Amino acid sequence: MSIRADLSRCTSTQRYEVGAGGTRYPSEGRILRPESVRGGMASRRFADAVASFDTARVVMFGVPFDRTCSFRAGSRWAPDAIREASYNFETYMMDHGRDILDVKFHDLGNLPDFSTTEEMVKGVSEVSERIVRAGKIPFAIGGEHSIAPAVVRGLPKDVGVIGLDAHLDFRESYLDDKWSHACSQRRIADHVGYDRTIYAGVRSFSSEEKEDRERLGLSFISAFEIHQRGIERAVDRALHAIGREKVYLTIDTDAIDPAFAPGVGNPEPFGLTPLQVKAVVNTLAPKLVGMDINEVSPAWDQGQTALLAARLIREAIIGTVEK
Ligand code: MN
Ligand code: MN
Repeated sequence: MSIRADLSRCTSTQRYEVGAGGTRYPSEGRILRPESVRGGMASRRFADAVASFDTARVVMFGVPFDRTCSFRAGSRWAPDAIREASYNFETYMMDHGRDILDVKFHDLGNLPDFSTTEEMVKGVSEVSERIVRAGKIPFAIGGEHSIAPAVVRGLPKDVGVIGLDAHLDFRESYLDDKWSHACSQRRIADHVGYDRTIYAGVRSFSSEEKEDRERLGLSFISAFEIHQRGIERAVDRALHAIGREKVYLTIDTDAIDPAFAPGVGNPEPFGLTPLQVKAVVNTLAPKLVGMDINEVSPAWDQGQTALLAARLIREAIIGTVEK
């Protein structure tokens, strides 16, 4: 067993303390990875994000925003919890036969605390656009699902968007906010078109969303269809539906069954398995022009949801160099 694996066991229980100095972890300093100490960033960066911005292929950033959360709040803590969890894993990924250090990626840290959704969308879109203009792939760590359309708006309009979500997120507006996390796909469609976005793993929507979906021609893939026909067919169908070579992937962690991912804002039974989501990420990663993972809510987690999110990010990063 490596020293790193030993040390990672000491950090399975995390408690957050928020004070004037920002979020503090009792385990701070316990994981001895010297390159993780970086000036100018309040919290630890994602494990193995050792490349500079200029040399990086993937540039990640956290968006600790959860102001439209409708049930279990707290996804604002997720970027740091997911970064913390990322130190659990070996740099060598045996199922890929490749070391993640072979892929250059950079962690910008967290964006500032935004007070309104409009402010968040503007700020996140600007950062996303800056990363895309530099020829790099933006990866955002939420925060709630409202961050996804903000990242997508930083991309050219000729991309297709595949989402994994228990929910359709297709409301025109929710609680008087059109940028609510309950509207994520509706706002994504505003940018790329109703026929260029599809959510899979869906098992919940309102009657209004059903009517709008039928009227506007929005496709979806239900969790039940995936369980019956397999995840490979679902990915094929999703790619066919969006009809684009450049793919943006947005993962609402509640797509995964609450048995595996209990720490989410709106848990919904009958969800996907971690291996099914891994298969989606592995298939799409070579086509990715951007990605986000959102809705992890650490206060409701025993650590496994953040670990899974961290691992899925690592799967996506390493997959960007695979064909
Ligand atoms: Mn969602
Ligand atoms: Mn959802």
